[in-house]
Amino acid sequence: MKCAYIGLGANIGDPIKQLQQALDALSLAPKTRVTKTAAVYRSAPMGPQDQPDFYNTCAALDTQLSAHELLSELQNIERAMGRIKRRHWGERCIDLDLLLYDQQRHNCPILTLPHPGIGERDFVLAPLIELTGGDYIVFGKDSVGDMFKRLKNVSVTKLPATLSAVSPSKACAHAN
Ligand code: AMP
Repeated sequence: MKCAYIGLGANIGDPIKQLQQALDALSLAPKTRVTKTAAVYRSAPMGPQDQPDFYNTCAALDTQLSAHELLSELQNIERAMGRIKRRHWGERCIDLDLLLYDQQRHNCPILTLPHPGIGERDFVLAPLIELTGGDYIVFGKDSVGDMFKRLKNVSVTKLPATLSAVSPSKACAHAN
């Protein structure tokens, strides 16, 4: 069993609902369990500014899928939820990134691990720190807490919204 961390984001439609839908879909993925979710964070868009604010969170998973298989599952969920790529760093109904998978490193365009954006993004680091604690080491030397302290601009707002880690149907499937 491997531990993986996923970043989730959305900024069109009903973003918080879509984050929950994606978590529900993830918890139904084969050989995978969502073990923990962070709070939802709101932030101004990183790319083009003529789009709504983003809502982001992170989730911890236990999985027996390989990193590539898990990435495929994330992409299947994005497709099923109707994600259309309009422009780079543009608006999206859901965005799922594989942030960390065990301590694995991958370095190709299809899969880069740890996800290269982790250290620059307050909307990734803030929820990730909730799940891992600030001392968690990424990239071999840097802790997530230190990376967060080094950010020049922190503009995320933590929201009171709560997301559930396990969909009702999976809970039933386990119970039976
Ligand atoms: P994005 O527009 O951020 O959803 O990027 C999607 C592309 O990034 C896909 O072609 C993925 O194969 C690639 N990619 C590389 N590494 C990762 C990763 N760690 N998580 C998600 N997508 C990745």
